[in-house]
Amino acid sequence: MKKAVFPGSYDPLTLGHTDIIERGLPLFDEIILAIGTNSSKKYMFSLEERLNFLKQTYKDEPKIKVMTYEGLTVNFCKEQNAEFILRGLRNGQDLEFEKAIGQTNYKMSGIETVFFIASSGKEHISSTVVRDVIRHGGNYEFMVPDVVRG
Ligand code: ADP
Repeated sequence: MKKAVFPGSYDPLTLGHTDIIERGLPLFDEIILAIGTNSSKKYMFSLEERLNFLKQTYKDEPKIKVMTYEGLTVNFCKEQNAEFILRGLRNGQDLEFEKAIGQTNYKMSGIETVFFIASSGKEHISSTVVRDVIRHGGNYEFMVPDVVRG
């Protein structure tokens, strides 16, 4: 059984995340969408809201599980018997950042990270941009799935 963990803050879930999730589905028997909780980080959406975005969007997808975790992603993967981490790459900045984390995670645990390059036309989407647009009252609906549109 091939299991992957897709870790993230999902603050909020975007069409960038859903792109990676949908493209990951044929590769794995199960994907755990794992919201990392960090008590020192400030979020726009509560944990309950972020969980709800994921659960609602994938309620009819039996291969997807939604969970929260604290601490190291590789420890959570081991607890769940997941051998892979799923991540997306939008640009060179993501690549540099993810490279260091991916290499460290592999050294620590032997867990491989599988990367998808953002789909053409979706690389501009990020939760940070969505939050900025929301704060300033702009139209963010084209960047998020239905459930986040409210
Ligand atoms: P984190 O706070 O851990 O970066 P995010 O929720 O922002 O979590 O992102 C989780 C993952 O989704 C990351 O691997 C990120 O690169 C990927 N991702 C986010 N937006 C996009 C996008 N538009 N295209 C491809 N991957 C994306």
